[in-house]
Amino acid sequence: MINDTDLKHLRRCIELARAALEIGDEPFGSVLVSANGDVLAEDHNHVAGGDHTQHPEFALARWAAGNMTAEDRALATVYTSGEHCPMCAAAHGWVGLGRIVYASSSEQLAQWLSEMGVGAARVRNLPIQDVIRDTVIEGPVPELAEEVRELHRQFYAKRPK
Ligand SMILES: [Zn+2]
Repeated sequence: MINDTDLKHLRRCIELARAALEIGDEPFGSVLVSANGDVLAEDHNHVAGGDHTQHPEFALARWAAGNMTAEDRALATVYTSGEHCPMCAAAHGWVGLGRIVYASSSEQLAQWLSEMGVGAARVRNLPIQDVIRDTVIEGPVPELAEEVRELHRQFYAKRPK
């Protein structure tokens, strides 16, 4: 179940996605929250420089591996504006992080990009459940997904097709 605290963290993810968009990066943002509700780390996409592995969920997984115990990682939640891609889902699984809550799904993103005439990405679009065996996963959140969609619309509107 997604509660008001979850919505607050998801809204922060969307703010981070917007911050990425404003500096010319792809609009994705994520937040890592401990079991007792502390925001431990946050990040947004950094792929504009050409390294397309610089996703926020991957960065948070590595941060968690370096800074948290295994027990704390298992009880932490990663919030994200868009569902983890397979790379990030695998990183999340390998470092033993816990729950994932996303505002918009990979399936929604694929649909939006298709509607905007953006070609499919080279990496396949797998749901997190197809990558990680046993993590609690929640999303999408319809009213927030619309906000994420608007950020992607703005990102691609600025780029030559
Ligand atoms: Zn990713």
